[in-house]
Amino acid sequence: MSDFDVCVIGGGPAGFAAVMRLWDFERRVCLVEKGRVGGAGIHNGALSSKTLWELSRDYRNATRRDRGYFAEHIEVQYAAVAEAVDQATSAKTEQMARQLRELAHPRFGHRGSITLLQGAASFVDPHTVHVEGMESGQSRHITADHFIIATGSQPRSLPGVEIDGVSILTSDHIGGLKQFPRSLVILGAGVVGCEFATIFANFGQTKVYLIDRAERILPFEDADIARVCSTNLEAKGVTIHHRAQLVSMRRVENQVEYTIEHHTGGRERIVVDKALVSIGRVPNTSGLNLAAAGVEVGDRDHVRVADTRTNVPHIHAVGDVTLDTALVSVGEHEARYAASLICGQVAGPLKYDNLSTIMFLDPEVASIGLNEQEAQRARTPYRVAVYNYALVNRAIAMRATEGFVKLLVTDDDDMRILGMRALGVHASTALEAVSFMIQHGRSARELAELLHPHPAVTEGLQDCCRMLTGSSIYKPCVFQSDLRLSTISYSDRGPEGKPS
Ligand SMILES: Cc1cc2nc3c(=O)[nH]c(=O)nc-3n(C[C@H](O)[C@H](O)[C@H](O)COP(=O)(O)OP(=O)(O)OC[C@H]3O[C@@H](n4cnc5c(N)ncnc54)[C@H](O)[C@@H]3O)c2cc1C
Repeated sequence: MSDFDVCVIGGGPAGFAAVMRLWDFERRVCLVEKGRVGGAGIHNGALSSKTLWELSRDYRNATRRDRGYFAEHIEVQYAAVAEAVDQATSAKTEQMARQLRELAHPRFGHRGSITLLQGAASFVDPHTVHVEGMESGQSRHITADHFIIATGSQPRSLPGVEIDGVSILTSDHIGGLKQFPRSLVILGAGVVGCEFATIFANFGQTKVYLIDRAERILPFEDADIARVCSTNLEAKGVTIHHRAQLVSMRRVENQVEYTIEHHTGGRERIVVDKALVSIGRVPNTSGLNLAAAGVEVGDRDHVRVADTRTNVPHIHAVGDVTLDTALVSVGEHEARYAASLICGQVAGPLKYDNLSTIMFLDPEVASIGLNEQEAQRARTPYRVAVYNYALVNRAIAMRATEGFVKLLVTDDDDMRILGMRALGVHASTALEAVSFMIQHGRSARELAELLHPHPAVTEGLQDCCRMLTGSSIYKPCVFQSDLRLSTISYSDRGPEGKPS
């Protein structure tokens, strides 16, 4: 008999969710974690960066002078901010630790148990892993009937750029900063790079540069969204090097010297205090000795899966290590699915249909389903309504009217919701409703006639739906620059917008 029914390798959000679902099914589970339980979901990742983002926004608002009152001599020290981030991550880590402690042994007639082993796991054979004790210095072999690999990912490095963790950093090192850098260059204008640019710009202590290879930041989003986000960054003093290639980056004494080549061919050399390399992540597979278990990896060293199954029937992989969408919610979703699959409790395939995300920029950007460029690429005819926050009372009351909600629906009488993008304060509050509507194939008409609370930012979404049915309270023919109503259809020559 094996030591455990299931061994989960990696205690990030995916591994933790898997363990808890396996416990529901009364399995004897072993969780092997080499670092801190919580992984990048908590430390140097989702929770820590969102705490920094919230604090930076609070600070930014506190320094505003357009609200009838203002505060003088507001001080901000990075060490104190980092301490607040630590408190947030510790609170969460303690909750996770408490649950692991309390569910360690079978009790109350429940046969499930969870054993936490602190150490790095690597396969010895398809049913055995070696756990190298990190703190105790001890090691041991454990056997299990099933395995779930949830070892996550780590920041990608760049050949020729030495990441020393002091001057040239990745997101793993942000928490270790001693003070706000006077200047910071961020290499990579993806979500994480733009989030850190927003955070440091909000605190106003750091001159931020952002190196963006593409024509605009967030190329996967519609141009109107990218435009607001980059205009806001620039308004806070961020310099965005659009269409620039990094030529070199190196530490010179206690600073960083980098050279970029602009699209025109001109080269520019800039010296800053610190650099943050944010060019994506690579899966944590190298230490796992997957070959010993016969598990196949893909061309980017990620574990190849189909519905969380690897090529070895009793070994599953979930979360970032599979290199699909790197999100806490996705990792947890896959983990719960894999646990159910192992316990024979799954009927259908794993679905990602209704994936929603929030980008923590200025303002926040909430997305679900199709955006316009995706719909047009797929040549899907659609109607689109855009409703500016300038007309939403709650946003007016908050003195935060920058933003809009954009709803895409099918171009037919059903007007099924295809997707939403919302950008502005509390933008993400609309996600749950829209997610539900998409999941159940519901029409924008239904949202249009709900009795809504007032004032709420979701009123923008509701009047957007009403616009689509020709019944909005505010009329696009009056507020032409704040309200947009269009139908997109296709000729043989490509997409064409027909304003209605
Ligand atoms: C700066 C930043 C901001 C982010 N913001 C968001 C956000 O706002 N929203 C969101 O949804 N996602 C966000 N993410 C992404 C999110 O953090 C990841 O998608 C998520 O943490 C992945 O979970 P995971 O469990 O697969 O891996 P991880 O969280 O990476 O956890 C993997 C765990 O496995 C352990 N491990 C690795 N190898 C071994 C081994 N051999 N033996 C034992 N243990 C091992 C690691 O120590 C780690 O604890 C962010 C990420 C970063 C870096």
